[in-house]
Amino acid sequence: MSKRDYYEILGVEKNATPEEIKKAYRKKAIQYHPDKNPGDKQAEENFKEAAEAYEVLSNQEKKQRYDQFGHAGMGGASGFSGQNMNMDDIFSMFGDIFGGHFGGGGFGGGFGSSRSRGQHVNRGQNLRVKVSLTLKEIAEGAEKKIKVKKYVACKACNGSGAKDGSFSTCSTCHGSGQVTRISNTFLGQMQTTSACPTCGGEGKIITNKCTVCYGEGIVKDDEIITLNIPAGVANDMQLSVSGKGNAARRGGINGDLILVVREEEHPDLIRDDNDLIYNLFLNLPELALGTTAEIPTVDSKVKVKIDAGTQPEKILRLRGKGLPDINGYGKGDLLVRIHAWVPAKLSSEEKSLLEKLNLQPNFQASGQDQADKKDFFKKMRGMFE
Ligand SMILES: [Zn+2]
Ligand SMILES: [Zn+2]
Repeated sequence: MSKRDYYEILGVEKNATPEEIKKAYRKKAIQYHPDKNPGDKQAEENFKEAAEAYEVLSNQEKKQRYDQFGHAGMGGASGFSGQNMNMDDIFSMFGDIFGGHFGGGGFGGGFGSSRSRGQHVNRGQNLRVKVSLTLKEIAEGAEKKIKVKKYVACKACNGSGAKDGSFSTCSTCHGSGQVTRISNTFLGQMQTTSACPTCGGEGKIITNKCTVCYGEGIVKDDEIITLNIPAGVANDMQLSVSGKGNAARRGGINGDLILVVREEEHPDLIRDDNDLIYNLFLNLPELALGTTAEIPTVDSKVKVKIDAGTQPEKILRLRGKGLPDINGYGKGDLLVRIHAWVPAKLSSEEKSLLEKLNLQPNFQASGQDQADKKDFFKKMRGMFE
């Protein structure tokens, strides 16, 4: 499934200001509003698409994640809330877009007036958890079970907060959850709609509170959650799992579970984006004669041939032995950086052997002709490209 770029959807540049993003979304929302395009499925899709793009780009944290990781950063395989966004969620976003409550008589005649915004819906708080992952788990993707303490729906009252479902309709708003006030201004009559103060927008009042949750509809409890973490995540990356956060008071919408990735340090390998680095120390005979070295990878070991005459600081690239890209663009490499290891202590026998070697013609660094040196420096430069 290919998803369109959020910036493209709203028709703004990547460096657009929050004000420009808001303006662009407002334009799209009016253009594709269902009341303006009755029965037009494509318009409805465009309308939802624009709302999803705006939800992400208007939120500093989500925008940053999207800029860095694209759609995959928005929750990977675990499902980002935008996909499940329903019309009610979208309409509830209009509040800050059009300023004040939407749906009143004050805004563009007829537009939205036939649509009931419905009662106020409670939303549970998001829950943040750190998940510690080894490099192997990051390389392969992982299924993790975690135990979290959070608000869950009260079983005794099914999350409603009312004992035996004892509700009565709010007498202030007659169940609509909102009150409408008409005031006279110099522009004419203005109609404003706000949440009902008596029932807090719920439209109903509990007559007999549940004794387990004291009418809240939620209780603290442990929950075991299975997480599917996509391969290629990195330290501090955040993944959101929609609906797995705290339950809302009295049967509203659950909050999200936000996972913060903690990468455990590997004993031998250093991560550099999708590449891995391994520092290999070789002594003079090994460098000069060549050898076979065992290199640790994320999940096993590989044998690598070291050519005779290998120079220190040379980097060997083991293609595809790094980490997978979070967006599925292939795999990184494992870079083996070769270092010269020099013994700090020598026996008298070792000393005399080295002194003899030091007199041999091929051990005279200054004896190399200019062409050889040039070639050597060219090679050195090549190692860093
Ligand atoms: Zn009310
Ligand atoms: Zn209860």
